Amino acid sequence: MLKVAKFGGSSLADAVQYRKVKDIIERDPARTVVVVSAPGKRTSDDHKITDLLYLCEAHLKYGVSFDDIYEMICTRYITIRNDLGLKVDLETEFAELRREMRHGISRDEIVSRGEYFSARLMAAYLGYEFIDAKLWLTFNLDGTVDTEKSYELLRIAAEGRKVVIPGFYGVMPDGHIRLMDRGGSDITGALAAAALDADVYENWTDVSGILMADPRIVPNAKTIDRVTYSELRELSYIGAQVLHEASIFPVRRKNIPLNIRNTNEPDHPGTMIQEYFTEELPDSSFITGLAGRKGFSIITITKSGMSSKVDSLRRIVEIFEKYNVTISYAPTGIDCFSAVVENQQLDSRKYAVLAELQKELKPDDITVTEQIAVLAVVGRRMISRSGSSGRIFEALGENGINIRMISQGPEELNIIIGVKEADFNPAIRVIYENFVD
Ligand code: ADP
Ligand code: ASP
Ligand code: MG
Repeated sequence: MLKVAKFGGSSLADAVQYRKVKDIIERDPARTVVVVSAPGKRTSDDHKITDLLYLCEAHLKYGVSFDDIYEMICTRYITIRNDLGLKVDLETEFAELRREMRHGISRDEIVSRGEYFSARLMAAYLGYEFIDAKLWLTFNLDGTVDTEKSYELLRIAAEGRKVVIPGFYGVMPDGHIRLMDRGGSDITGALAAAALDADVYENWTDVSGILMADPRIVPNAKTIDRVTYSELRELSYIGAQVLHEASIFPVRRKNIPLNIRNTNEPDHPGTMIQEYFTEELPDSSFITGLAGRKGFSIITITKSGMSSKVDSLRRIVEIFEKYNVTISYAPTGIDCFSAVVENQQLDSRKYAVLAELQKELKPDDITVTEQIAVLAVVGRRMISRSGSSGRIFEALGENGINIRMISQGPEELNIIIGVKEADFNPAIRVIYENFVD
């Protein structure tokens, strides 16, 4: 049995958190591969080490002194080391890094030191070997991960050993360090789990799993105990972001279950994510989770006879493509097509897109409905409970919520509902209260 355990920034914010991590690792001998982020916030008004490193680099670039920020970073690590009674010589490395910064060092290299020092300390504390991400996690020139090479290198370096690996960065073919997106340590953990054919990928964070709804909208929302990879994609695409989206692919491809756990509540089983579940728990709601986001518009194009023209859809989609506006959802009628798009993408190009749609399609009508929120009701059990969508629409209607758009995927895994932004929070609450609680 092999478990890869990734710990996020809040799980590593100070020595108290490091102790909790050690406790968790020692409870289960299968937890032999540990992936760490950089220390995060200790309190809500504290700073994440990664943010401070970005700040250092910005000062460096504009020739402004960053000594105070650098000092804050070094002190964070030295305090953790001293509080844990470790004998890691950080001072020499900090001085060396400071010298390199004066002589030119890339932004990615500077920021990557956040996870590097975190992993060095954790390796010493656990008595595990430190394996630098530089030694295995290799990118292709286009920035994608060279999984074949990376997996092979990690297997050689880590198989049969107890190791700690820094998350968030890897190396380009020319040896330069490259960062992933923010939150990328989740991806490193998933790649390590896939490389080593782990039995489970544990992602330890500061919540006891994925909640069924945003706790700012539904206080005391329940934890999702089990969710499939497809359901999670739907939820995280539209809003529930506990994990970096890209961390799903490596483990899913290898059929490795992903377990989200809470470092501050280690006995809680958290959320288990798998390809499928052979049997469902009794009495479970047909809803797995609710997520959503504001900031959409609906562009509706109406033209009689549109559906009988084979090229209408393609021509519409091509115009959106030309202006680089992604169509998030596309509910259609016989003579009309709606494109649900994010305002962030549409705003600066709105009139150009509308003008071109007008010119190319000569529609009977084009309308734009702004201030739309999209919410996704996600649930694999909907397929076996007939009438689920009808019941949801009825509950919304009874509560005075006007539905502006409906879209249901062919897999019946989700129902996408567009409402006015002002109705977003009430809509989530109505659905949660009627079908979950
Ligand atoms: P880490 O530092 O461990 O990587 P993150 O801050 O990246 O942690 O992710 C965990 C956070 O995700 C939680 O603290 C919570 O604020 C947020 N989050 C967003 N949506 C959800 C949800 N549906 N369920 C649980 N947490 C959520
Ligand atoms: N430390 C990085 C960040 O803050 C990576 C991570 O936490 O996953 O984005
Ligand atoms: Mg994270």
